[in-house]
Amino acid sequence: MPASISSGYRGLVYKVAVPSPLRRVFDYLPPEPNQSIAIGTRVQVQFGRRKVVAYVLDKASNSELELHKLKPIYAVLDSEAIFPTKLFSLLQWCAKYYHHPLGEVLSAASPGKLRSSIPLYPQEIVYRAYSKIDRSELNSLSRAPRQRALLKFIKKNSSASRDEIELAGFSAAIIKSLEEKKFVERAERNLNSLELFSPLNSVNPSSLELNSQQQQAFDAIKLNGDKFNCFLIDGVTGSGKTEIYMQVMQQHLSEGRQCLVLVPEIGLTPQTVNRFSKRFDCPIAVLHSNLTDNERLDAWRRARAGSVAIIIGTRSAIFTPLPNLGLIIVDEEHDGSFKQQDGFKYSARDVAVMRGREENVPIILGSATPSLESLQNAESKKFSYLTLSERAGGAIKSKTTIVDTSNEILDSGFSEKLLFKIDQHLTVGNQVLVFINRRGFAPILSCTNCGWIAECEDCVSQMSVHAKPPSLRCHHCGIAKQLPILCPTCHEEGLTTIGAGTQRLENFLEQRFSTFPVIRIDRDSTRSKSKLTSMLNQIQIGKPCILLGTQILTKGHHFPAITLVAIVDADAGLFSPDFRGQEFMAQTVVQVSGRAGRAKKSGEVVIQTRHSTHKALIQLTQKNYKELAMYLLEERKAASMPPFAQLVLLKAEGNTLNESINLLQRMNKVSIKLIRESNSNIRTVGPVPAPMEKKAGRYRAQLLFKAENKNTMQQFLTQFVYQIDQIKLSRNLRWSLDVDPREMI
Ligand code: ADP
Ligand code: ZN
Ligand code: ZN
Repeated sequence: MPASISSGYRGLVYKVAVPSPLRRVFDYLPPEPNQSIAIGTRVQVQFGRRKVVAYVLDKASNSELELHKLKPIYAVLDSEAIFPTKLFSLLQWCAKYYHHPLGEVLSAASPGKLRSSIPLYPQEIVYRAYSKIDRSELNSLSRAPRQRALLKFIKKNSSASRDEIELAGFSAAIIKSLEEKKFVERAERNLNSLELFSPLNSVNPSSLELNSQQQQAFDAIKLNGDKFNCFLIDGVTGSGKTEIYMQVMQQHLSEGRQCLVLVPEIGLTPQTVNRFSKRFDCPIAVLHSNLTDNERLDAWRRARAGSVAIIIGTRSAIFTPLPNLGLIIVDEEHDGSFKQQDGFKYSARDVAVMRGREENVPIILGSATPSLESLQNAESKKFSYLTLSERAGGAIKSKTTIVDTSNEILDSGFSEKLLFKIDQHLTVGNQVLVFINRRGFAPILSCTNCGWIAECEDCVSQMSVHAKPPSLRCHHCGIAKQLPILCPTCHEEGLTTIGAGTQRLENFLEQRFSTFPVIRIDRDSTRSKSKLTSMLNQIQIGKPCILLGTQILTKGHHFPAITLVAIVDADAGLFSPDFRGQEFMAQTVVQVSGRAGRAKKSGEVVIQTRHSTHKALIQLTQKNYKELAMYLLEERKAASMPPFAQLVLLKAEGNTLNESINLLQRMNKVSIKLIRESNSNIRTVGPVPAPMEKKAGRYRAQLLFKAENKNTMQQFLTQFVYQIDQIKLSRNLRWSLDVDPREMI
């Protein structure tokens, strides 16, 4: 129905964002005529057949809809906005930039518990005096002085809880009498009485004396004061980045400002949190995925009330409301875990920079291996670049050796040279770290007779062989199957495993170095938190052992007794089809290597490869990460790839590949027309089946957009998304956008 001036309702309506894939806001009437509700407040509304928690975005004095089509808001859940104004506008920016429905963005940014209708703060029962008590009634209390005194006390405080009343010296019987005589009544009060944390002293006696590079970096950050600026600290592992963070934090904490520290996956690194809690005698909240919903809500509430000083959290902690935010830190800013890959797809690092700008506070990004995006931002002076090239605290830089395995017969993936070195380090009483980026026993189960390979029926992917417990597992959808004894195709005995994962290396190393413990740390062995803690403790004791593991080991751990780090196979990253493959390979190699020689003992790194003359590897090992990064940036520039161009991936998912491709073809017609009409410089690639065509039973296709200018892309996307949003989808089809995708899967 076209909107005309005469039609529609005239009167107060609220524009409400509902968590739904629909990219529009909905009009609702106030629950009571002309009831005023603050912008940003959570409300409960009837939406289709469901009652959902939604967010008030705006109010208006008329609606395009007729009165009979407008529903009233079912309930106003809080008496104030859930997000402070600046955070609310950041979330609106997110919805715009990532082209994700605002209702879903707001919902994703709220703690899980608040996506239901429970109140922002817990309620408690309080007593209030009846407003109409006249003098003669009061006189009736003249012979009950305690009751009279309590009534006075309650009136003075406007309300009082049972605890407060008892604390003031009144018994339960006195309040009961007052209630019976109808002098006081019960009411609910928000338990929002959390106090602001007390500012720390500006000098912390356990601060270390900074070395000259650290001092330079610290001074630059201090000179900037408390306004927005983004600093990139490019500092080798162990160079004392964390010491700088803590000293900058000290400044802000002493002025009563809150510090938000984003870290990758801290559920696995209690050490990170311990370091901060040892240094700072102030309330710290930790937000990560291992918390229960109640723990998360509690931490979030305290942060929002300003009663915690430091918030340490993973990706989604970037959306924590902080009334007195003073500083944001993103440690290991290159880390992939900062990118949300499903649903509302965002980069917490990029959002953090935007939040710093919005709230006008400084932000520090730190890494030993900064992302090419951040290095380019430093090159173009958008970020202030600070370097720490030496290890702090006297630790010596590790020596790196490349072992070419192209002409060697390997024993379970190990060359003789590497085995010899492992033996050497263990024998003199040191610890060894063996890195392999593949869990399970072997990545492939194959039949030597007919060539059959075990594949997942729901994904286009091989199934991995696991030894503990014996099974076939798909690492993409998680499905597990029994390990067959005979080949399911030719029914012969000829099944064999190809390649090696952590479990196979574990078997091999246990046999080869039988007098030393082998500790395997991967996603399978660390499902239980207590088990992980006990493994980490065993390593901390420092007795010689082999620590064997995947990516998990690269994250922030501090293992002082490790002197040898072995990277069993560096080749997958060198020849990855992903344009970021070499960047990721280099980051992994440097981060793993950084675990060696962190204490007084010097370290050694051994990298096995069949391509020892690969340019990227040579630059990385003979020069350093920065040199390689600069070379890779040149390549990206020549190929016009990020950070010199922006990519956006449109993904479709359906029950057949045809369906998904067809949908994208229809959408591509829209984009071609828009691009032609606006004559904008945007390239499209596809639609093509996704590199992983089938995942968890769904067929996936994608269409890629590339523009050299972000504004051009944004203008295009705004119109494009609006138009494709009108396309009616059959029930099983879904589409989503990934703005600045990290992986092309
Ligand atoms: P990063 O965060 O860069 O990996 P850390 O801050 O963890 O580095 O520092 C590595 C080690 O060096 C730690 O044990 C730390 O206590 C020590 N350290 C850092 N700065 C100094 C300093 N100025 N003087 C002495 N030791 C330091
Ligand atoms: Zn067979
Ligand atoms: Zn699968």
